[in-house]
Amino acid sequence: MSATVQSITVLGASGSIGVSTLDVIARHPDRYKVFALTADRRWQVLATQCLAYRPRYAVMKDPVSASALEMELRRQGCTTEVLQGDDALAQVASDPEVDTVMAAIVGAAGLLPTLAAVRAGKKVLLANKEALVMAGGLFTRVVAESGALLLPIDSEHNAIFQCLPNHRADYLQQGLKSSGVRKILLTASGGPFRNTPLSDLPKVTPEQACAHPNWSMGQKISVDSATMLNKGLELIEACWLFNARPQQVQVVVHPQSVIHSMVEYIDGSVLAQLGNPDMRTPIAHALAWPERIESGVASLDLIATARLDFSSPDYMRFPCLRLAQQAAETAGTAPAILNAANEVAVASFLQRRIRFDQIAVVIEQVLSRIVSVEPHDLGHVQAADAEARALAQQLIAQW
Ligand code: NAD
Ligand code: MG
Repeated sequence: MSATVQSITVLGASGSIGVSTLDVIARHPDRYKVFALTADRRWQVLATQCLAYRPRYAVMKDPVSASALEMELRRQGCTTEVLQGDDALAQVASDPEVDTVMAAIVGAAGLLPTLAAVRAGKKVLLANKEALVMAGGLFTRVVAESGALLLPIDSEHNAIFQCLPNHRADYLQQGLKSSGVRKILLTASGGPFRNTPLSDLPKVTPEQACAHPNWSMGQKISVDSATMLNKGLELIEACWLFNARPQQVQVVVHPQSVIHSMVEYIDGSVLAQLGNPDMRTPIAHALAWPERIESGVASLDLIATARLDFSSPDYMRFPCLRLAQQAAETAGTAPAILNAANEVAVASFLQRRIRFDQIAVVIEQVLSRIVSVEPHDLGHVQAADAEARALAQQLIAQW
């Protein structure tokens, strides 16, 4: 058992990962206490969480929601201090009293608060893959300079981390080959439309796209899983986390989501991490690493699972995956452009302004019209992000 209680900030507490994180934390009051909880505008969820976990701070991005939360907490006699806005998000991510930050804001909005935690040298549990996709070079430089400990929450990356050698410094400095790794096998469920007739894809609704067969997740990542753009973001994420080249990462479709990813070594050994598809496993793993703690996840029943299937991805069906692989190879600001175009396209699809199959068209057109440059600082990344968003909005408005 650890000697001191770890103080934790949960960025994106009201979301799917945030709720699972608090579920694991609640199982270990002797190890963890909540320092701050944050959300965009769902203040009622945050109010309930504040009453249960009594954090020092609650941060709402939206000012109207912050006032509503403040009133509700005072009415209930809860002393949690309510803060508002971007500076407050960065503040609770970097406060000297914080040991660990769960970075679970969705999308580009998570970049600055996650970077604030990294700059402050925290233990950072990274769910917000978009931050690494946008600004991986800068991000990993700051990790090296600050001495922050970056641990992956994305189930695939957490699995890969568990299958790689413990001596992380070797592959981070000299590449995967130096650790005897031949390749990473990144598994993908294929999402809800793996077998849908191609002619039906233009008709799919946001409700169908968000109904993932194996995982319960936020809307944006659910749509990303349905287009498999999520696997493309994960490929880029894996390259930054494990110092891999895009060619060293092979995407394997595995519809049961029982194997969460694998690592193949030069001697022919393939190591896999298996488990039920429940994010509390990677969350508990990263929270306690290098120790192990209970997560609340049931034992994996291999007899009931009975079979594990594998196939290669169908690029006709999932053009977003190819676009992401191309952006990974182009590098520079291409991944940030891809990510921004996708965020705009997914939001428009969820608002029923564009069709499901048009998400890939938006990304392709934006990527073909904006030149990727080598980003030297955050300003370059933010400029590429803004330019791609504006162009995507403009294309969608013309349709
Ligand atoms: P979600 O939509 O359920 O929750 C998102 C959280 O971010 C909410 O708390 C919301 O209030 C907050 N948020 C949204 N916009 C914000 C803004 N502009 N400013 C501040 N806060 C904002 O999403 P999720 O499924 O929990 O995913 C969170 C992140 O974790 C994503 O990057 C996703 O790709 C990653 N991830 C999720 C899962 C999963 O199983 N849900 C698995 C792997 C990775
Ligand atoms: Mg994943």
